[in-house]
Amino acid sequence: MFVLTGAGVSAESGIPTFRGVGGLWRNYRIEEVASPAAWARDPRLVWEFYSMRREVASAAKPNAGHAALADLERRLGDRCVLCTQNVDALHEQAGSQRVLHMHGELFKSRCDRSADPGTGGRRGCSRPPFDDRSKYDGGAELPVCACGGLIRPHICWFGEIPYEMDRIHRELERCTVFVAIGTSGVVHPAASFAGLARERGARTCYIGPDAPANTPLFDQVFPVKATELAGCLAVESQAIRMDERGR
Ligand code: NAD
Repeated sequence: MFVLTGAGVSAESGIPTFRGVGGLWRNYRIEEVASPAAWARDPRLVWEFYSMRREVASAAKPNAGHAALADLERRLGDRCVLCTQNVDALHEQAGSQRVLHMHGELFKSRCDRSADPGTGGRRGCSRPPFDDRSKYDGGAELPVCACGGLIRPHICWFGEIPYEMDRIHRELERCTVFVAIGTSGVVHPAASFAGLARERGARTCYIGPDAPANTPLFDQVFPVKATELAGCLAVESQAIRMDERGR
């Protein structure tokens, strides 16, 4: 089973979604805080934005949806792949151990002269991404690497290539059930994953209160909130067991 989660899974934990009312981005223009051009123009503003997001995410606790997905991993083991567009750490806090963070991780930073995790392209600095919960706002000094580069958030910005894409494509090719949860189906490439899985014969379903923009790619839609998803996952796990018996 391939599970793709989006901002909706963390909404009931108090982390606003991208497009929802009161969304995190309301006071910021995306292109001014979440792109390589923004970083080149005003790294202080970028760090102010991500410091605010670290603050919000630090206060959040995993909800029943995160718990149900951790439980699914315990039951299915490596037959379950959890890929998230979320940059918070709530899946890990709930107990998920093998999370693919395709858009990066809020509580990690890296040198802006180190290799690009999306392209693998080498740059001057060999320091890998590292855990970092610090906030760099309100006039704080911007963090600098020993090599002289600036430390940036370990986040895939607009215009950059998402992380772990080779592994994600391999898993999409072999999954028999694809489940998307709490994602609007607008942000690519994640919005195309359901179609890729379906072309390879997987059954596809969506769990979330609003129909996503890519609804036609799903065989079934469960119109429930993330905290109510355990029942839907039970249906999909059953489909996996039936599929395995049929082989
Ligand atoms: P989105 O904001 O575009 O869409 C959120 C989706 O969640 C909507 O379809 C909405 O109907 C649904 N939703 C709202 N409440 C829900 C609930 N209680 N249960 C289930 N679903 C619910 O989010 P996206 O599609 O993930 O894309 C947004 C981008 O912004 C991503 O790239 C992501 O990295 C980033 N983002 C991440 C976080 C986070 O890390 N928690 C938060 C906001 C944005």
